[in-house]
Amino acid sequence: MIHEVLPVGMLQCNCSIFGDEQSREAIVIDPGDNIDDILAILRQHTLTVKAIVITHAHIDHIGGAAKLKAATGAPVFMNQKDQTLYDDLAVQASWLGMETPERTEIDSHARDGDSLTLGAATFHVLHTPGHTQGSISLWIPEENKLIAGDTLFRDSIGRTDLPGGDRRLILSSIHDKLLTLPDDATVVPGHGPNTTIGREKERNPFLR
Ligand SMILES: [Zn+2]
Repeated sequence: MIHEVLPVGMLQCNCSIFGDEQSREAIVIDPGDNIDDILAILRQHTLTVKAIVITHAHIDHIGGAAKLKAATGAPVFMNQKDQTLYDDLAVQASWLGMETPERTEIDSHARDGDSLTLGAATFHVLHTPGHTQGSISLWIPEENKLIAGDTLFRDSIGRTDLPGGDRRLILSSIHDKLLTLPDDATVVPGHGPNTTIGREKERNPFLR
């Protein structure tokens, strides 16, 4: 499996590009910005995007979704509970002093228990609310990898002081749905360096 992680935009959101070597199909997660760079990586690997998945509707994760969808025709997956946040993209842009990016329709609701396939791998949608109401994580058992969005970071957890944030909820999401994954599973957070489930269980000061 091809997996490229590209930090995009001024907040350096980790955009993941997964590609299957046989079918040459790809799943792009959190195309927040720098769509031209994402398209260049797709071209370099001769990949066709079959799905665009949004872990949550913060602008740094979803800002480039419309542009990537226009360029590839791929459907956008996002949990419905973040629709209001996406509708308020102009408000988010004003917090950051950014221009409001173009918005698009969400084609499919990424519900807890849903899954997408890419080659032999299955991307399982885990609804992990708390950072936002509609935050999801993606668990890919064949790769032993978790795409955690802004729910879990190396040594930290997602902030819960923004609209829709809930500290008790993010902690129960992490304990019930993420820390139950294998200790040696790689965690790719929405920002910053990778970690593992075991390392965060042992050392994350927010999970004591
Ligand atoms: Zn966020």
